[in-house]
This record gives sequence, C-alpha cells and structure tokens, in this order.
Amino acid sequence: MGAIKTLRGTRDILPSEIGYWQQVESVAREILSRAAYQEIRTPIFERTELFERGIGEATDVVGKEMYTFNDRATPPRSVTLRPEGTAGVVRALIENSLYAQGGVQRLWYIGPMFRYENPQAGRQRQFHQIGLEVMGSNSPRADVEAIAIATDLLQTLGLKNLRLDLNSVGNNEDRQQYREALVEYLTPYKDELDADSQERLSRNPLRILDSKDKRTQEIAEDAPSILDYLSSQSKAHFETVQQLLTAIGISYHLNPRLVRGLDYYTHTAFEIQSDDLGSQATVCGGGRYDVLVAELGGPDTPAIGWAIGLERLILLLQQLQTPSVPKRDFYMVSRGERAEAQALELATKLRRCGFSVELDLSGSAFGKQFKRGDRSGAAACLVLGDAEAENGTVNLKWLQSGEQQAIAQTELLAKTDELRQQLDHLANAI
Ligand code: ATP
Ligand code: MG
Repeated sequence: MGAIKTLRGTRDILPSEIGYWQQVESVAREILSRAAYQEIRTPIFERTELFERGIGEATDVVGKEMYTFNDRATPPRSVTLRPEGTAGVVRALIENSLYAQGGVQRLWYIGPMFRYENPQAGRQRQFHQIGLEVMGSNSPRADVEAIAIATDLLQTLGLKNLRLDLNSVGNNEDRQQYREALVEYLTPYKDELDADSQERLSRNPLRILDSKDKRTQEIAEDAPSILDYLSSQSKAHFETVQQLLTAIGISYHLNPRLVRGLDYYTHTAFEIQSDDLGSQATVCGGGRYDVLVAELGGPDTPAIGWAIGLERLILLLQQLQTPSVPKRDFYMVSRGERAEAQALELATKLRRCGFSVELDLSGSAFGKQFKRGDRSGAAACLVLGDAEAENGTVNLKWLQSGEQQAIAQTELLAKTDELRQQLDHLANAI
C-alpha cells in the first residue's frame, strides 16, 4: 500500500524551518504586547452563518472558498473551518461582552485559516495568519496605530522593499453612490470584462477593481475614483489618517482601486506589498470595519484590523537569512548498560537545573556518538563508559577547544553556576 501524503494546498512545517516561525511569533508577541494588545484564541470552526453574515455572501471567500460541512449534530448543522480571523474575534467580543469593560479592546491572534483556493507559491488551502483588531475607537489614530504596528513588525524582522497601499472605501452611503457610478461606467464594457467580473457587475461591482485580468484592469484604469465620492466626514477621517502617517514617518501610496476581498470594510483600507514575492505580493491586508460588530448582533463598535499571511512573510525571511538553530549545552554520550542508565539520570538532573542536554540513545560505538555530538551544535560532550560508571565520574569534553576533564557526577551537579558561566562565555565568544 502506498504511503499517505498531505492534501494539496497543505504542508508540513518541518523542524528545519520552524526557526523562522518561532522568530516571527516571538517578535510579534513582543511588539504587540508593547502596544498593549492581548492574544485571543477562538475556535478553528464556527457556525457557517457567522462567515456568511460577517464576510458577505457575494465574496469569493464565502461563495467559492470555504470548507463547509455538516457535523454529526441532529438536526443537521452547517459548520465551516475559519477562512479568516476577524469574524470569530468579533463573535467572541459579543458573546463574552468584552466591550462591557468599556474603552478600547486591543486583541491579536495567530493560527491556521482555510480556503479552498488554487495552490501556488504563497497561496495554500491551509495557511496561517497573525492579525490584530482594535475595537471601540473611530479615531484615525487607531488606524495609524494599527498600520504602524504592522510596519514595525515587518521592519523589525528585517524586511525591505515594502510598499504601503492606502485607500478609503468610505461609509456605506458613499459606497452606494460610488457603486452606481462605477456600474454606469463599466456597463458599456460588459462584454470585454472577464467572466467573473461580468457576474460581479450586478452582485459586487467594487470587486471588479481587484480583478487580475489584464483587459479588465485596463478598463478599470479609467473608472471613476472612490475618493471623489467620499462624504466630507469620510474625507476628513482619511485626510487625518494620511497626516498622522506622514507625521510618524510612514510613507504610503494612494491607490483608489484598492478594495479588499471581504465585504465588511469601511473607510481606511490598506495592503502592504513586497517586490520580492512574485505574483502573491500582498503580505498584509486590513482596514476599518465600523459596522461589522453591529451587523453580527453587538453594540455599535467601530473597529480596525489587519492580517499578515505568515507563509508569504516567511518566504521573504528565507530570502534574507538562514533559520536560527537552537543552542544546546551538552551532548550526552554513553555506552554499556550501567553507563547508559547513569547518563539518563545525569541528563535528567542537568535539565532540571536548566541546561539543555541531548541524550544519544543509539548505543552505538563511541566514535559514532562523538560525530553526532560534533554535529549537534552542543558546546560540550559528556561521556560515560564502563570505567566512569564504575567510579561515578563523567568525562566533560569542550568541543571547541578539545579540552577535557574527568569529574565526579556529584561535583558536576554541585557546580552548575560555574558551568553556566562557562557556557555563557562560550556563547558570547561566537
Ligand atoms: P489575496 O488577494 O492574496 O488572495 P486576500 O485579500 O484574500 O489576499 P486577506 O483575506 O486580506 O487576503 O488576508 C490577509 C493576508 O493573508 C493576505 O495578504 C495574504 O498574505 C494572506 N493570505 C490570504 N489568503 C492566503 C492563502 N490562500 N494562502 C496564503 N496566504 C494567504
Ligand atoms: Mg484571496
């Protein structure tokens, strides 16, 4: 029988690349907690209705990409693997009355998302996002804080060649008027639009601006700009966002054709693109969603958020650096029944003292174990054979200098402070 493989569009994240993921996660945690954001973990599946109502039925995500199935409940019940993070966070806010604490809720999340898409580099069916949501403020400062955190995160990770695209999609009324103007402009070209866009003309015409089809893009070039349809209030909000971005030194590129894939956006919409990613260039996407919380049954709560695609981010990191390898203190070599038992005990005790110890379990010849010790990245080998087991000692061999000494196991455990100093000294010298 053939071996079972992963499903198309999913992949294993192997130990050889996990260093990137851990690095991103630890930098993100640090940056988010400095700005008073708290992590929230919501379920990976939810009632299908949450996404239909939250993301919008006319979107590609809901219409074509969701993993939706009935679970085993009676009567039948439709559930969906989450395709994005915001709807679940909003549901959690409402269900747990987090807004009752008053003030602004600053939340972030990380985890897998699921969309039935056409897999290619930087586009998977199970992918990962890290995202944040600021809920309860309509101040343009919230928009700019959110954007600044995204750019700080990407810059701290060392990414270059990033571009921030910025737009405002106004409020619902602005968009209604713009929608009419857009349909009026596009209708004479209907036959020249790509098939998807033709269908969107009546259902979701703003999405046509985001078409990847060349001819449709050419036609969209001369379409009316949403920025000409913003009410004075929407305009004022957007202008303040731009001023504040400039004031804190974040440059941006106005893109009136930027519309996001999910229906819930209002006012500020933005994307961070990289020139180094080929066709899946968007690393981060987000915007304001002032009506979503109310639409999902909560109190009026203006909000803004973004999500970064971690696979794309890590593709960029891989171009910059090799993954970090965890440092190990000791590699434990042993051979012979008594020695092996003592080595297990000594390794356990050293770990309890805070040292990292890799125990060779092979029972193979000393030479082979030493070779693996050399490759392990450990600072020193601890060696136990019959003779050491007999008299309760261990051989400590520093791998860089080749220096070695026999030492009583009890003494080794008694001078852990000194050992730690030696290890730190070596680590700093590298
Ligand atoms: P795209 O236009 O690339 O399909 P999107 O507008 O659908 O992106 P969002 O829903 O805003 O994306 O998600 C935010 C980010 O999550 C994207 O900018 C991207 O980095 C990442 N992302 C979205 N879909 C996928 C996917 N199928 N595989 C990998 N990453 C993804
Ligand atoms: Mg998409």
